[in-house]
Amino acid sequence: MRIVLASGNAGKVVELEQLLEGSGVQLVAQTSLGVSDAEETGLTFVENALIKARHAARATGMPALADDSGICVDALDGAPGLYAARYAGTHGDTAANNARLLRELDGVPAGRRTAYFIAVLVLLRHADDPAPLIAEGRWHGRILDAPRGAGGFGYDPLFLPDGFDVSAAELDFALKNRLSHRGQALDLLKARLAGFA
Ligand code: IMP
Repeated sequence: MRIVLASGNAGKVVELEQLLEGSGVQLVAQTSLGVSDAEETGLTFVENALIKARHAARATGMPALADDSGICVDALDGAPGLYAARYAGTHGDTAANNARLLRELDGVPAGRRTAYFIAVLVLLRHADDPAPLIAEGRWHGRILDAPRGAGGFGYDPLFLPDGFDVSAAELDFALKNRLSHRGQALDLLKARLAGFA
C-alpha cells in the first residue's frame, strides 16, 4: 500500500520509512508528487496535522500521513506551542527562537519552568475519511536557564527531560528518538497500523 507523506522534510521521510519497514506500507513524499505545502491554519496540533494530511490525500487520491509538533511551556500558557518554529518571527531561526524562550522565562524559578514537547501523527485513508487514525506523544521536562549540548535540533539544548540531568541535546541520538514525543507517537501509530494496511 502506498501512502503519501504530507511533508517535504527529508529527515522525517527517512525516520518514518524506517518505522514502516516490513509493514507493507510504502511512503512517498508529497514533494515528489508535486504536492504543494498546505496552509496550516489550525489552532491545535491535531487540526494542523489533519489539514496537511487531507490536503495531500485530496491532491493525490492516495492515503496520507501527516505530523505536527512543537513545544508547550506551562508558565507561558502553552506558548510557543504551534508556533515553535517561528516563535521569534522568522521560520526556522533556532537561535532567535531559543533566545526568545529564555527571555520570556527570565526570572521564572526552576520549579515553574515545566514544559513538554508534543507530536501528533494523522493517517487518513482518503480525503473524506471521517475516522482518521491519530497518534499523539508527549515528552515532559523543564526549560533550562541556558543552552546545554550540541546535538539534536530546535529547542533540544534548552530542554531537560524528566528523569535526566542532561539536556535533550546531550542525550544519545537513538535514546532521544526512543523517549521523545515523536518516538512515542510513532510507536503508537505502528501498533495501530496493523489493522490499517
Ligand atoms: P514541525 O512539526 O517540523 O513544524 O516542528 C515544529 C517545531 O517544534 C520545530 O521547528 C522545533 O522548533 C520544535 N520541535 C519539535 N520537535 C522538536 C524536538 O524533538 N526537539 C527540538 N525542537 C522540536
